[in-house]
Amino acid sequence: MSYGDRLMAIGDAWKQYQADPLRRRVAIGDGRSIDGAQPDLLWGLDFLASPEQLAAGEPVSWVHSYPHHRPYIDYAAMRRALGWRRPLEHLGFGLTRLLGHYRYRLDYRPTPAPIRLKPDELALSEHWAQQPFVALEPYIKTGAPPSKQWPVERFAEVARQLSRAIPVYQISAPDSPVLDGLPQIRPRSFREALAYLRAARLYIGPEGGLHHGAAAMGTRAVVIYGGFTSPLITGYDFQRQLTGGAEYACGTRRGLCPHCAEHLNRISVAEVVDAARQLLEQPALQRSASA
Ligand SMILES: [Zn+2]
Repeated sequence: MSYGDRLMAIGDAWKQYQADPLRRRVAIGDGRSIDGAQPDLLWGLDFLASPEQLAAGEPVSWVHSYPHHRPYIDYAAMRRALGWRRPLEHLGFGLTRLLGHYRYRLDYRPTPAPIRLKPDELALSEHWAQQPFVALEPYIKTGAPPSKQWPVERFAEVARQLSRAIPVYQISAPDSPVLDGLPQIRPRSFREALAYLRAARLYIGPEGGLHHGAAAMGTRAVVIYGGFTSPLITGYDFQRQLTGGAEYACGTRRGLCPHCAEHLNRISVAEVVDAARQLLEQPALQRSASA
């Protein structure tokens, strides 16, 4: 389950809705049926079409995004690399497995998802926002490519150094290990994580669902990329992306890629701490009342 992909799809839908002179609701899916993943994110998002509205014949525009079919992946280039002439649309996952890596569409740009928080989530967020703090996630999600994991002990050192000036909380799933005695935020759901991220002055962590979540909440972030994904396709301009000098994003799904390991290794603790301090000195971003 990928909250990052879902947030990007909702962001794409929002951008498309705003650009549509007919203001049609936007359906996210395969052009025929609506993708029902992560329905918890959709609360209050009236610009998105529901399956019922689609079935009732309401005119919609489509964002084509569903598992193994994402707008930032260049499936045509991957088919060419495998020597396939025909699309074989249903083999989206097989394509990645056979080739062993993604090819990216480097002309894709993400839009922050306009996620709306519920009143109790906003109250939680407002309560935590009374004191400045940094939210730090050291771990990639279960099942993510290992080529996205910056060394956990470096995250711990970043937290140690920043903690002299501002509290740093580890924000992780309930089953993740505790990092080096840091105070903990253990959200019970992704939505609750969004409420904490909205309250945080800054998020620090790997490229993934929480950095998209921070973007959705209008929160600045230092995002550790390395060489797996390009900041061009999943980076937001009010956040900082650190690649360790990677000149291309390899998208290697299998094992730990030496290229990714090298570029992750080149990202120093000092670089992350400096980026964090620079962003903490900037004024908070303007955000809407609901998000
Ligand atoms: Zn690599």
